[in-house]
Amino acid sequence: MRTPLIAGNWKMNKTVEQARALVAEMLPGLQAVPSVERVLCPPFTALMPISAMLVGTEIGLGAQNMHWEAQGAFTGEISPGMVKEFCQYVILGHSERRTYFGETDQTVNKKVHAALANQLIPIVCVGETLEENEAGRTAEVVARQVCDGLKDVSKDQAAKLVIAYEPVWAIGTGRAASGEVANRVLAEIIRPALAGLFDTPTAQKIRILYGGSVTAANAQEFFGQPEIDGALVGGASLKPAEFVNIAIAAA
Ligand code: 13P
Repeated sequence: MRTPLIAGNWKMNKTVEQARALVAEMLPGLQAVPSVERVLCPPFTALMPISAMLVGTEIGLGAQNMHWEAQGAFTGEISPGMVKEFCQYVILGHSERRTYFGETDQTVNKKVHAALANQLIPIVCVGETLEENEAGRTAEVVARQVCDGLKDVSKDQAAKLVIAYEPVWAIGTGRAASGEVANRVLAEIIRPALAGLFDTPTAQKIRILYGGSVTAANAQEFFGQPEIDGALVGGASLKPAEFVNIAIAAA
Protein backbone atom coordinates (compact mmCIF):
# COMPACT_ATOMS: atom_id res chain seq x y z
CA MET A 1 0.00 0.00 0.00
CA ARG A 2 1.17 3.53 -0.73
CA THR A 3 1.73 5.83 2.27
CA PRO A 4 -0.24 9.07 1.90
CA LEU A 5 1.90 12.17 1.42
CA ILE A 6 1.00 15.80 2.01
CA ALA A 7 3.44 18.47 0.85
CA GLY A 8 3.10 22.21 1.38
CA ASN A 9 4.55 24.32 -1.44
CA TRP A 10 4.99 27.74 0.10
CA LYS A 11 6.11 29.24 -3.23
CA MET A 12 7.72 32.72 -2.87
CA ASN A 13 6.30 33.47 0.57
CA LYS A 14 7.70 34.04 4.07
CA THR A 15 10.87 35.58 5.43
CA VAL A 16 12.89 33.46 7.83
CA GLU A 17 11.16 35.01 10.81
CA GLN A 18 7.71 34.46 9.29
CA ALA A 19 8.64 30.93 8.26
CA ARG A 20 9.74 30.05 11.78
CA ALA A 21 6.49 31.39 13.22
CA LEU A 22 4.41 29.45 10.69
CA VAL A 23 6.21 26.17 11.40
CA ALA A 24 6.01 26.68 15.16
CA GLU A 25 2.25 27.07 14.81
CA MET A 26 1.65 24.01 12.66
CA LEU A 27 4.24 21.62 14.06
CA PRO A 28 2.24 20.15 16.99
CA GLY A 29 -0.76 19.47 14.77
CA LEU A 30 1.37 17.93 12.01
CA GLN A 31 3.23 15.72 14.47
CA ALA A 32 -0.09 14.29 15.62
CA VAL A 33 -0.65 12.68 12.18
CA PRO A 34 2.22 10.16 11.97
CA SER A 35 0.53 7.86 9.45
CA VAL A 36 0.87 10.56 6.78
CA GLU A 37 4.21 11.52 5.24
CA ARG A 38 4.36 15.29 5.79
CA VAL A 39 6.66 17.62 3.87
CA LEU A 40 7.23 21.37 4.03
CA CYS A 41 8.71 23.20 1.04
CA PRO A 42 9.62 26.74 2.12
CA PRO A 43 11.76 29.09 0.01
CA PHE A 44 15.52 28.38 -0.15
CA THR A 45 16.39 31.07 2.40
CA ALA A 46 14.25 29.36 5.06
CA LEU A 47 15.54 25.80 4.48
CA MET A 48 18.40 25.97 6.98
CA PRO A 49 16.44 27.47 9.91
CA ILE A 50 13.42 25.26 9.28
CA SER A 51 15.57 22.12 9.03
CA ALA A 52 16.84 22.95 12.52
CA MET A 53 13.25 23.17 13.78
CA LEU A 54 12.40 19.78 12.27
CA VAL A 55 15.25 17.85 13.92
CA GLY A 56 13.78 15.00 15.94
CA THR A 57 10.44 15.17 14.10
CA GLU A 58 9.36 12.98 11.20
CA ILE A 59 8.38 16.00 9.12
CA GLY A 60 10.32 16.16 5.86
CA LEU A 61 11.76 19.19 4.14
CA GLY A 62 11.78 19.93 0.42
CA ALA A 63 13.15 22.56 -1.94
CA GLN A 64 10.93 24.05 -4.63
CA ASN A 65 13.49 23.72 -7.43
CA MET A 66 17.18 23.07 -8.08
CA HIS A 67 19.74 22.99 -10.88
CA TRP A 68 20.97 19.65 -12.22
CA GLU A 69 24.70 20.46 -12.25
CA ALA A 70 26.82 19.72 -9.18
CA GLN A 71 28.49 23.14 -9.11
CA GLY A 72 29.90 25.88 -11.30
CA ALA A 73 29.14 29.14 -13.05
CA PHE A 74 25.32 29.13 -12.82
CA THR A 75 24.58 32.45 -11.12
CA GLY A 76 21.50 32.34 -8.95
CA GLU A 77 21.12 28.55 -9.03
CA ILE A 78 21.21 25.95 -6.23
CA SER A 79 22.81 22.51 -6.74
CA PRO A 80 21.49 19.08 -5.66
CA GLY A 81 24.29 18.84 -3.09
CA MET A 82 23.23 22.16 -1.56
CA VAL A 83 19.60 21.05 -1.39
CA LYS A 84 20.64 17.76 0.14
CA GLU A 85 22.35 19.50 3.05
CA PHE A 86 18.89 20.32 4.41
CA CYS A 87 16.24 18.45 2.40
CA GLN A 88 14.98 14.98 1.60
CA TYR A 89 12.62 16.10 -1.21
CA VAL A 90 12.63 18.50 -4.14
CA ILE A 91 9.70 19.78 -6.21
CA LEU A 92 10.59 19.66 -9.91
CA GLY A 93 8.84 20.99 -12.99
CA HIS A 94 6.15 22.98 -11.23
CA SER A 95 3.93 24.68 -13.81
CA GLU A 96 5.06 28.10 -12.55
CA ARG A 97 8.67 27.09 -13.34
CA ARG A 98 7.60 25.84 -16.76
CA THR A 99 5.53 28.95 -17.54
CA TYR A 100 7.69 31.76 -16.13
CA PHE A 101 11.19 30.28 -16.18
CA GLY A 102 11.27 28.25 -19.36
CA GLU A 103 11.52 24.78 -17.85
CA THR A 104 10.90 21.98 -20.32
CA ASP A 105 10.39 18.24 -20.04
CA GLN A 106 14.07 17.93 -20.96
CA THR A 107 15.34 20.17 -18.13
CA VAL A 108 12.90 18.48 -15.75
CA ASN A 109 14.40 15.13 -16.80
CA LYS A 110 17.94 16.32 -16.05
CA LYS A 111 16.79 17.51 -12.63
CA VAL A 112 15.01 14.21 -11.90
CA HIS A 113 18.22 12.29 -12.63
CA ALA A 114 20.27 14.69 -10.50
CA ALA A 115 17.81 14.41 -7.61
CA LEU A 116 17.80 10.60 -7.68
CA ALA A 117 21.60 10.47 -7.93
CA ASN A 118 21.70 12.56 -4.75
CA GLN A 119 19.13 10.46 -2.86
CA LEU A 120 16.57 13.25 -3.00
CA ILE A 121 12.93 12.30 -3.60
CA PRO A 122 11.66 14.25 -6.59
CA ILE A 123 8.07 15.49 -6.56
CA VAL A 124 7.57 15.84 -10.29
CA CYS A 125 4.72 18.14 -11.32
CA VAL A 126 2.65 17.57 -14.43
CA GLY A 127 -0.63 19.06 -15.63
CA GLU A 128 -2.37 20.62 -18.60
CA THR A 129 -3.27 24.28 -19.11
CA LEU A 130 -6.87 25.45 -19.48
CA GLU A 131 -6.36 25.85 -23.22
CA GLU A 132 -4.99 22.31 -23.55
CA ASN A 133 -7.81 20.98 -21.40
CA GLU A 134 -10.48 22.68 -23.48
CA ALA A 135 -8.87 21.44 -26.69
CA GLY A 136 -9.15 17.85 -25.39
CA ARG A 137 -5.36 17.52 -25.16
CA THR A 138 -5.05 16.53 -21.47
CA ALA A 139 -4.04 12.92 -22.14
CA GLU A 140 -1.45 13.83 -24.75
CA VAL A 141 0.14 16.62 -22.68
CA VAL A 142 0.21 14.81 -19.34
CA ALA A 143 1.49 11.53 -20.82
CA ARG A 144 4.25 13.43 -22.62
CA GLN A 145 5.27 15.26 -19.43
CA VAL A 146 5.44 11.95 -17.55
CA CYS A 147 7.30 10.02 -20.26
CA ASP A 148 9.80 12.75 -21.21
CA GLY A 149 10.29 13.98 -17.65
CA LEU A 150 11.09 10.46 -16.41
CA LYS A 151 13.07 9.29 -19.45
CA ASP A 152 15.84 6.77 -18.65
CA VAL A 153 14.99 6.53 -14.95
CA SER A 154 15.64 2.98 -13.74
CA LYS A 155 12.87 0.80 -12.36
CA ASP A 156 14.55 0.68 -8.93
CA GLN A 157 14.77 4.44 -8.70
CA ALA A 158 11.29 4.97 -10.09
CA ALA A 159 9.59 3.44 -7.08
CA LYS A 160 10.83 6.36 -4.95
CA LEU A 161 9.39 9.02 -7.22
CA VAL A 162 6.39 11.14 -6.39
CA ILE A 163 4.24 12.62 -9.16
CA ALA A 164 1.94 15.59 -8.57
CA TYR A 165 -0.91 16.07 -11.01
CA GLU A 166 -1.60 19.79 -10.93
CA PRO A 167 -3.93 20.98 -13.66
CA VAL A 168 -2.73 24.53 -14.33
CA TRP A 169 -6.29 25.86 -14.46
CA ALA A 170 -6.84 24.70 -10.87
CA ILE A 171 -3.73 26.30 -9.34
CA GLY A 172 -4.43 29.33 -7.19
CA THR A 173 -7.81 29.80 -8.81
CA GLY A 174 -10.07 28.38 -6.13
CA ARG A 175 -11.37 26.17 -8.92
CA ALA A 176 -10.17 22.69 -7.95
CA ALA A 177 -10.72 19.73 -10.23
CA SER A 178 -13.39 17.37 -8.92
CA GLY A 179 -12.03 14.33 -7.13
CA GLU A 180 -13.53 12.12 -9.78
CA VAL A 181 -11.99 14.01 -12.71
CA ALA A 182 -8.56 14.10 -11.04
CA ASN A 183 -8.78 10.40 -10.21
CA ARG A 184 -9.60 9.60 -13.82
CA VAL A 185 -6.46 11.42 -15.07
CA LEU A 186 -4.36 9.42 -12.61
CA ALA A 187 -6.06 6.11 -13.42
CA GLU A 188 -6.30 6.48 -17.18
CA ILE A 189 -3.27 8.61 -18.09
CA ILE A 190 -0.56 8.86 -15.43
CA ARG A 191 -0.43 5.37 -13.95
CA PRO A 192 -0.65 3.68 -17.38
CA ALA A 193 2.16 5.97 -18.61
CA LEU A 194 4.24 4.90 -15.59
CA ALA A 195 3.45 1.24 -16.25
CA GLY A 196 4.58 1.71 -19.86
CA LEU A 197 7.83 3.35 -18.78
CA PHE A 198 8.60 0.86 -16.00
CA ASP A 199 6.16 -1.99 -15.31
CA THR A 200 2.82 -2.39 -13.55
CA PRO A 201 4.17 -3.34 -10.09
CA THR A 202 6.53 -0.33 -10.15
CA ALA A 203 3.74 1.99 -11.33
CA GLN A 204 1.63 0.76 -8.42
CA LYS A 205 4.34 1.80 -5.95
CA ILE A 206 4.70 5.39 -7.19
CA ARG A 207 2.76 7.96 -5.17
CA ILE A 208 0.64 10.33 -7.24
CA LEU A 209 -0.63 13.50 -5.57
CA TYR A 210 -3.30 15.96 -6.65
CA GLY A 211 -2.59 19.70 -6.50
CA GLY A 212 -4.65 22.78 -7.33
CA SER A 213 -6.83 24.70 -4.86
CA VAL A 214 -6.81 21.93 -2.25
CA THR A 215 -8.38 23.11 1.02
CA ALA A 216 -9.41 21.46 4.27
CA ALA A 217 -12.98 21.63 2.96
CA ASN A 218 -12.37 19.71 -0.28
CA ALA A 219 -9.43 17.47 0.79
CA GLN A 220 -11.61 14.47 1.60
CA GLU A 221 -13.05 14.52 -1.89
CA PHE A 222 -9.55 13.82 -3.24
CA PHE A 223 -8.29 11.45 -0.59
CA GLY A 224 -11.38 9.29 -0.93
CA GLN A 225 -10.33 8.47 -4.51
CA PRO A 226 -8.42 5.21 -5.00
CA GLU A 227 -5.60 6.60 -7.15
CA ILE A 228 -4.93 9.85 -5.25
CA ASP A 229 -2.18 9.33 -2.67
CA GLY A 230 -2.09 12.81 -1.16
CA ALA A 231 -1.80 16.46 -2.11
CA LEU A 232 0.64 19.16 -3.10
CA VAL A 233 -0.87 22.16 -1.37
CA GLY A 234 -0.11 25.79 -2.23
CA GLY A 235 -2.10 28.60 -0.63
CA ALA A 236 -3.65 26.45 2.10
CA SER A 237 -0.19 25.32 3.28
CA LEU A 238 0.42 28.86 4.54
CA LYS A 239 -2.52 28.56 6.96
CA PRO A 240 -1.52 26.35 9.92
CA ALA A 241 -4.92 24.97 10.94
CA GLU A 242 -5.94 24.46 7.32
CA PHE A 243 -2.77 22.55 6.44
CA VAL A 244 -3.00 20.39 9.56
CA ASN A 245 -6.61 19.57 8.72
CA ILE A 246 -5.60 18.55 5.20
CA ALA A 247 -3.02 16.18 6.72
CA ILE A 248 -5.67 14.78 9.07
CA ALA A 249 -7.97 14.20 6.09
CA ALA A 250 -5.24 12.14 4.42
CA ALA A 251 -4.72 9.85 7.44
P1 13P B 1 -2.82 26.21 -4.72
O1 13P B 1 -3.06 25.15 -3.69
O2 13P B 1 -2.58 27.57 -4.14
O3 13P B 1 -3.85 26.19 -5.80
O4 13P B 1 -1.41 25.83 -5.42
C1 13P B 1 -1.22 24.53 -5.86
C2 13P B 1 0.19 24.38 -6.23
O5 13P B 1 0.66 24.94 -7.19
C3 13P B 1 1.03 23.54 -5.36
O6 13P B 1 2.25 23.29 -5.96
